[in-house]
Amino acid sequence: NFPTEVVPQAPEDPLFGLMRAYKADQSPDKIDLGIGAYRDDNAKPWVLPVVKKADEILRNNPELDHEYAPIAGIPSFTSKAAELMLGADSPALLEKRATSIQTISGTGAVHLGALFLAKFYKGNRKVYVSNPTWVNHHQIFNNVGLPTESYPYFDKNTKGLDFEGMKAAIRGAPEHSIILMHACAHNPTGVDPTLEQWKELAEIIRERKHFPFFDSAYQGFASGNLAQDASAVRYFIEQGFELLIAQSFAKNFGLYGERAGCFHAITSPGEEATTTITRLASQLAILQRSEISNPPLYGARIVSTVLNDPALFAEWEENLSTMSGRIISMRKALRGKLEELGTPGTWNHITDQIGMFSFTGLTEQQVQRLRDETHIYMTKNGRISMAGLNIHNVDRFANAVHHVVS
Ligand code: PLP
Repeated sequence: NFPTEVVPQAPEDPLFGLMRAYKADQSPDKIDLGIGAYRDDNAKPWVLPVVKKADEILRNNPELDHEYAPIAGIPSFTSKAAELMLGADSPALLEKRATSIQTISGTGAVHLGALFLAKFYKGNRKVYVSNPTWVNHHQIFNNVGLPTESYPYFDKNTKGLDFEGMKAAIRGAPEHSIILMHACAHNPTGVDPTLEQWKELAEIIRERKHFPFFDSAYQGFASGNLAQDASAVRYFIEQGFELLIAQSFAKNFGLYGERAGCFHAITSPGEEATTTITRLASQLAILQRSEISNPPLYGARIVSTVLNDPALFAEWEENLSTMSGRIISMRKALRGKLEELGTPGTWNHITDQIGMFSFTGLTEQQVQRLRDETHIYMTKNGRISMAGLNIHNVDRFANAVHHVVS
């Protein structure tokens, strides 16, 4: 019989605990800076206008049914997802050395990559992730039997990149290690390497024969420019690396709950490249079959509708600018207000960091005081979701920070 007594109580996911406490708070002034989803100036979820249009188009299409998608997903979705990530003129696409498979959003893509590595990777079976990283990275890799190890990333003093520490750790890792990197808009810090720094990292990764795995959850959402947010990945591909990519459409399409994502495997150039990619695709299909059989239709149909129509694509880019632009303006407003108040410390990191999150540098104690005294909720590590700030609450937040820091 099943020995249920050996199953211990698991700790609650800290983000969900935070969300619960926020919901229970009755104050009309409460501010949620924990959420990892875009909010508009009224702190409400935003359905992208282009998504509404695509939805309408789909609803009026009498041909659409609810049959299973192919195991590898909807081809018109995966092919455009690859072009979006790699660039339509990518050598990997032109030389047919990329394979793409639709996944359960970005999480599913990271998981499929992890499972694939767990089954086939013959190098150092340890995954090097940034310190800190999206906490789920640890769980996803550990759950498939690949332990994680951290490389330095965030410099507490500058609140920027600890580039020397990062390079030394990657150089010091045993040859053939798996190096997980955030393609852009690093979660939770909002700190990204510059393109020059990416080039140096690529050099070290090549020298040490490491295997790069990019997690791209915020393309277009960070800078507002799709190509710019993919530049690190594209640079590595131009350099001929064999690599993996997890791609999410949760944030950039606002399709969080629809679970639209894609996993890409790229091989190095060479005569064998196309046959290699065919072998990889066949194994990925088997893993997919045993995990989810067939990926979900709706989110992928929405994305495919937009990516395959030039006019809708242009509208999507405008919607992306609306989101990234609002976030950038909140960064400016917050920094400006803190500097105006003369809040102790430096606040340039608020505008230097990019994407949805900012590592404020607030201590755990200050975070707790903000919650207890001012009904402002954020994770213990001082990370705030910039999307939770808006024209109505940014001054109140800045004043509250000033109060706990002074
Ligand atoms: N990777 C990173 C770094 C993230 O921040 C997230 C979401 O917060 C994801 C992956 C996966 O998101 P989803 O599974 O919703 O696409």
